[in-house]
Amino acid sequence: MATARELALQHSHLKLGVVEKENQLAFHQSGHNSGVIHGGIYYKPGSLKAKLCVEGLHLSYKYFKEEGIPYKKCGKLIVAVDDKEVGRLLDLFERAKQNGVPDVELIEGHDIKKYEPYCHGVKAIWSPHTGIVDWALVTEHYGKNFRDLGGSIYLDFEVKDFSLVEDDRNENPAGTNYPVRIISDGKSVRCKYVLTCGGLQSDKLAKLSGCNEDPRIVPFRGEYLLLKQDKAHLVRGNIYPVSVLYIWSDIDLRECGILWIQTSMCFQKVAINICMLLDSENHHGEIASPAYS
Ligand SMILES: Cc1cc2nc3c(=O)[nH]c(=O)nc-3n(C[C@H](O)[C@H](O)[C@H](O)COP(=O)(O)OP(=O)(O)OC[C@H]3O[C@@H](n4cnc5c(N)ncnc54)[C@H](O)[C@@H]3O)c2cc1C
Repeated sequence: MATARELALQHSHLKLGVVEKENQLAFHQSGHNSGVIHGGIYYKPGSLKAKLCVEGLHLSYKYFKEEGIPYKKCGKLIVAVDDKEVGRLLDLFERAKQNGVPDVELIEGHDIKKYEPYCHGVKAIWSPHTGIVDWALVTEHYGKNFRDLGGSIYLDFEVKDFSLVEDDRNENPAGTNYPVRIISDGKSVRCKYVLTCGGLQSDKLAKLSGCNEDPRIVPFRGEYLLLKQDKAHLVRGNIYPVSVLYIWSDIDLRECGILWIQTSMCFQKVAINICMLLDSENHHGEIASPAYS
C-alpha cells in the first residue's frame, strides 16, 4: 500500500488500482510484525537499506503526526550481558554512528537502570528514536490516502495469472491501450502496467509475471507472548540482545535471543522465537524448523 500511495502522490494523472487477495489490508506480514519503528542500527554502512531505514524513521514519525496515528517513541536498548558480547556491541555502535542513527549513545552497565530499571548488563547501546506503532493501522491509513487520491482497491482478488490480450480494437474502444490482463478466479482486470508487491509471495508473483523468481523468499514468522499487566512495569521500551544483529546480517539464527518489545497498546510483548515456515502465510500452524531462541 505504501508503494501505491506514493505512486498516486507522484503521478496524479495515472488511474491506479490495487488488487489484494484478502478481504482486508495488512492481513499478512504488515499485520503480524513486531511493530518496531527501527532506527537503522543494523544494516551495513553505505548500503541502500541503511540509508532508507534512517530516512524512513524520520518520514514515519512525520507521517504519524500528520495522520494522527498513535505511536510511542519509547527508545531501544541493545544490551551486552557479559564481557564476551562487548566486542559485538561496539561493532554495532560503530555501524549505528556510520549509518547516522540519530542521538545513539553507548552507555555503561550502571546507567542501564536509568532507562530500564529491571535490566542488567555490562554495556548497552541506547537509541532514543526507536519506537513502536501498529503497522496494520498505518497500512489502513495508506489505503485511505490512496482512495482519497482517486485510487481503487479490489479486495478478494487473488492474482492467479497474467496474460497479454489480443488487439481487440474492433470490439473494445480501449483497444490495446490496456494490454495486460490480471486474472483471478472468474474475474479479471485490464491495465497498462503492473507492479507486483506481494510480500512473502513476491517471488511467486514475479515468476507469474514473467520475471525472475530470484531472490527467493524463505518464510519466517515471529512468535510472541504478552506480559501480564501486573508485570508490565518490568519493561519500559524495547530491549534487544546483542545477538539479534545476526538475524539481519551474518545469519547465525541459533543466536537470535529474546526481544522485549512495547506495543502501541498498553501491553509489553516478548518475542521468543523466529521459525522457518513450510508455507509463507502460516501465521499460527506447523513450522519447518526448531525455534531459535
Ligand atoms: C516476524 C517479523 C517481524 C517483523 N518486525 C518488524 C518490525 O518490528 N518493524 C518493521 O518495520 N518491520 C518488521 N518486519 C518486516 C515488515 O513486516 C515487512 O517488511 C512488511 O510488512 C512488508 O510489507 P509488504 O507490503 O511488502 O508485505 P505484506 O504485508 O505481506 O503484504 C503483501 C500483500 O500482498 C498480498 N498478496 C500476496 N500474494 C497475492 C496475490 N497472488 N494476489 C493478490 N494479493 C496478494 C498479501 O495478501 C498481502 O496483503 C517484520 C517481519 C517479520 C516476518
